[in-house]
Amino acid sequence: MLTMTVLPLGNATVVLFNAEFCDISVMIADWLYKMQGDELLKRSGSYVLLIELENGFEGSVGMLGEVNLLAGRYLYFGSARGPGGMAARINRHLRSDKKPHWHIDRITLAGQVSEILAVPEDHECDLREKAMALMNLTVPVKGFGSSDCNRCPAHLLAISGDSTGLFARLVETVGGKIYPAMSLLPTTAAQPSTV
Ligand SMILES: [Zn+2]
Repeated sequence: MLTMTVLPLGNATVVLFNAEFCDISVMIADWLYKMQGDELLKRSGSYVLLIELENGFEGSVGMLGEVNLLAGRYLYFGSARGPGGMAARINRHLRSDKKPHWHIDRITLAGQVSEILAVPEDHECDLREKAMALMNLTVPVKGFGSSDCNRCPAHLLAISGDSTGLFARLVETVGGKIYPAMSLLPTTAAQPSTV
């Protein structure tokens, strides 16, 4: 059977055909996907992490003191304006071997980042405001992730109620691109050995 993969690439569209027995187009599609992603993530901008906190969180977090978070889904709003762009920062969020430095490090170590929305040239506080206007989000801990911000009650928000298609709705309003966390992990980590 012949399969077809259609990929938008800049102003062009790449169409790849392949037979089922040959996975070369899958490899090329994966490479193109990562390349496109890299181009956007190399830039400065803001991002939103969708974090699954399956077992909740209990612990002391810097100046905030004792923090208790219920099991559930959370959004974290951040920005990256240094060298390495958003890619470097998001890579850190996804690493499980980091030393906790920021408030959010404790949460990404306790839970799982499942999706990332990257928005070039935007401000995380604007993103937070637009998201709060769109969906049912609450502030679980005042000041969490927003020590340097005098505008937001927190940069970590809890998702209340149904979160189906949440990132899809958000991207319609703020633009940017959604990345499944798995697509940004190194291939060796994303595809565990079957041996
Ligand atoms: Zn803010």
